[in-house]
Amino acid sequence: MTVKHDAEMKGVSTVESFRKLVGFVRDDLGLKPVLYRDYCKDPAEAGIVLVRHDVDHSIDNALMLARIEADMGLRSTYFMLHPGDYDNDENYYGRIENGRIVHQPDFFARCREIAAMGHEIGIHNDFFQLSFLTGRPIRELLLAEVEAFHAAGIPVAGSASHGSTFVREIEAVNYEIFAECVSSGKQRSRIVKSGTWEAETHTISLADVGLDYEAYFVPRNMDISDTGSAVALASRTFRADNMNLTSDEAYDLIRKTVAEIDGVRLVMLIHPCWWNEIVPPFWAMDGILPSGLKRMFRRAG
Ligand SMILES: [Zn+2]
Repeated sequence: MTVKHDAEMKGVSTVESFRKLVGFVRDDLGLKPVLYRDYCKDPAEAGIVLVRHDVDHSIDNALMLARIEADMGLRSTYFMLHPGDYDNDENYYGRIENGRIVHQPDFFARCREIAAMGHEIGIHNDFFQLSFLTGRPIRELLLAEVEAFHAAGIPVAGSASHGSTFVREIEAVNYEIFAECVSSGKQRSRIVKSGTWEAETHTISLADVGLDYEAYFVPRNMDISDTGSAVALASRTFRADNMNLTSDEAYDLIRKTVAEIDGVRLVMLIHPCWWNEIVPPFWAMDGILPSGLKRMFRRAG
């Protein structure tokens, strides 16, 4: 038996196996994994799962999950966060210098590595804050990033809104930079302000900056997310918080929720930063020991 790399989450919630969770959704529940860039063009199909990764802090962790998924034959979408949040003008993506983003020397190579496994790369959008930090218009900043990805051979088709403290303070959501993204009860074309900085919401059309979608506006009717390292399960009629995926009962609850929805469109939002790699013990790897000796180690362990 080949022993595979896996990942686990030990935060507010515990998830003992990343492979088990995504494998359950795909193979037991029979939901078909689709990429955002494909699904947004014709979201008529149901019985699907959009696996979405918001890469807030660590591209190493993103690569770790990307490899596990590739080994499972699963393709997903990774949204990369530009610098500026968490009181830090530098991250894995780049640094803010003289009002513009200077990309880390290895950033695009690592994105290409993820894309080469069949995954999609998108932009994790905190552009209200980036505009505040640089004093430059959002449209100009966003266009520069979309163009930089294209120039690096990574065509990006979409954006996923990042929830920063900054946007909560200005009482906005980052997807409100887009003209198409109006949430119910929120006024279109508001002026948002922080100090002397201000911007108008809903001014940029997705197509105008070469994008096809914003992830929050792609149709869905069920969510599993690990925001804040707490697993939440939600449909239009049901919600469970702080779930531990360590028992059959927890998986049964997911199964039951899916069974009650007519035409499941599930978004699984997994933040790679909460997950740690489980490396198989050396003796369990292929080609290291003959199988008889492996059995001895397993018994001894
Ligand atoms: Zn985020």
